[in-house]
Amino acid sequence: MSEVGTFLFLGNALWLDFVNTEIAVDGEPVDLVRSEADLRAWLVQSGVLGARELPEVTLLPRALELRTFLRTLADQFMQGTPISAEAAATLNSLLSSRRGTVQLFRRDDRWELLFYSENVRGADALFPVVQSIADLLSAGDWRLVRRCEGPKCILFFYDTSKNHKRRWCSMEGCGNRVKAANHYKRVHVKESEREK
Ligand SMILES: [Zn+2]
Repeated sequence: MSEVGTFLFLGNALWLDFVNTEIAVDGEPVDLVRSEADLRAWLVQSGVLGARELPEVTLLPRALELRTFLRTLADQFMQGTPISAEAAATLNSLLSSRRGTVQLFRRDDRWELLFYSENVRGADALFPVVQSIADLLSAGDWRLVRRCEGPKCILFFYDTSKNHKRRWCSMEGCGNRVKAANHYKRVHVKESEREK
């Protein structure tokens, strides 16, 4: 049984956080979404769904297909290749599949116009992920999609840092490991020089 566990939310974009449910541990690929339960846990942890709004339909096959599609796009963006007309058409078809309307919702003393769907418990549960990449393409900058420079890391992020110089999935993770490795090299080289 797979342990319903902890997911990483360091991508600065929901669709990249979803791609990042495939990770590498010591260079070996590990899929954190291996069951409906895993997927539902991710939907809750990511804030897509409230714990009580879990979908009543099977989502996993569709979700994994979507994730593969998004990973291909993340790879392309990272290499400076813009979205193809074909991939945009696929996104448009995903966008058009949502049934719902916009509704006014009260938040404190303000009103917000938000999408509302009766079908949120169903297939639309994955919609925010699709919306997230659509937002990037329409209002963000796809050129800022990066992959962590950790040699064995496969995590993506949207670089929203001030100078767009973010290199690591996290400083505690790969940033630290690479620093530690460099430090080890320096110390080790010094010591071996001393031995001569
Ligand atoms: Zn990393």
